[in-house]
Amino acid sequence: MRKQTKAIRTQTKKTHYREHSTPLFLTSSFTFESAEQGKAIFDETEVGNLYSRFSNPTVQEFVDKVCLLEDCEDGIATATGMAAVFASMAALLKSGDHILACRALFGSAHQIITQIISKWGITYTYLDHDATEAEWDAAVQLNTRMIYLETPSNPGLDLVDLEMIGRVSKKHNLIFNVDNCFASPALQNPADYGADLVVHSATKYMDGQGRVLGGVVVGKKEYIKEVRFFCRQTGPSMSPFNAWVLTKSLETLNLRMEKHAANALALATALDKHPNVKMVKYPFLPSHPQHDLAKKQMSAGGAIVTIDLEGGFQRVSAFMAELEIASLSSNLGDTRTIVTNPYTTTHAKLKPEEKIALGITEGLIRISVGLEDVEDLIEDFTNAVTVSAKSGILE
Ligand SMILES: *Cc1c(COP(=O)(O)O)cnc(C)c1O
Repeated sequence: MRKQTKAIRTQTKKTHYREHSTPLFLTSSFTFESAEQGKAIFDETEVGNLYSRFSNPTVQEFVDKVCLLEDCEDGIATATGMAAVFASMAALLKSGDHILACRALFGSAHQIITQIISKWGITYTYLDHDATEAEWDAAVQLNTRMIYLETPSNPGLDLVDLEMIGRVSKKHNLIFNVDNCFASPALQNPADYGADLVVHSATKYMDGQGRVLGGVVVGKKEYIKEVRFFCRQTGPSMSPFNAWVLTKSLETLNLRMEKHAANALALATALDKHPNVKMVKYPFLPSHPQHDLAKKQMSAGGAIVTIDLEGGFQRVSAFMAELEIASLSSNLGDTRTIVTNPYTTTHAKLKPEEKIALGITEGLIRISVGLEDVEDLIEDFTNAVTVSAKSGILE
């Protein structure tokens, strides 16, 4: 089956009620037919649901769909994207291990690596997104166990060559772990390039409508076994209600991502020509420094466009005040277009030199392009960049 069919036709086994849409198993626990069955499920001679911290049919349906969409064998859902990132590291790394990561990371992933797992004696090395294969090879230490990266990155839209990292991981026997949130499984499948684990914030495009939080780790059985043990004991489980929302959303993921990407490309193209915009970055714009790589590993450029505006925070503020359609929020991946100033919000905690290294300038605007009519978006943004440039800030 092809992706769209898989996403739509995978469903929990029909109950005796013969429902068409998937049922919601909003229950904390499950009953046993007999004392013998309780014993058998607990000693794992019989497979069955016990308690929703361990497993739940609605949550499992969501996981099954993500596995199919990501070409992965197994997976586990979590309450949030960060719980998925943390579980993928905490379950597989131990004191004394070393993690190699690309510098361009989501803020909280950076905090987990530098402030949390580092307390437990797990060391790290950061490399630039465009480091060469020889540089990655040279950074591998005897105790290196995992490579972790995000592509495209948030908010820099930098890419890492998945095929190359797949080779490096294989050569040195490392666990290759990718945050595939920005592309979503509709546009990019890291497992096809040798990724052992793929993590997602389902809060973003999987929901795609700004309603629920969720996360998921999918990948090779042997690693998911460890992640599952970690999650079952420590309890970052996904709510069945959120799973029900998310599993229905996956049925429209491909369709939404196509439209998101078409809107994003059209908006990026319009702003690229605009005299009052200093820089526009979008993976499928020919001006993106890694455009060829984007074309190779992504089927479309995704829904995030960044622009850089001259005039510091004052200009950012004037620009945001002028927008009539786009929302001001720190979230992304919604049907509604959202703008964020990472310098003062999502990445405010980074040191100035860290911001510079990631291309996070004061005037950087991250646009999460929604599903509105793109002509309205182009008008809204061109008006806001023009009016804010004329407000006297730039003189
Ligand atoms: C939002 C986001 C996360 C974190 O997900 P939550 O669901 O908010 O915990 C992780 N990685 C990326 C790239 C994100 O955009």
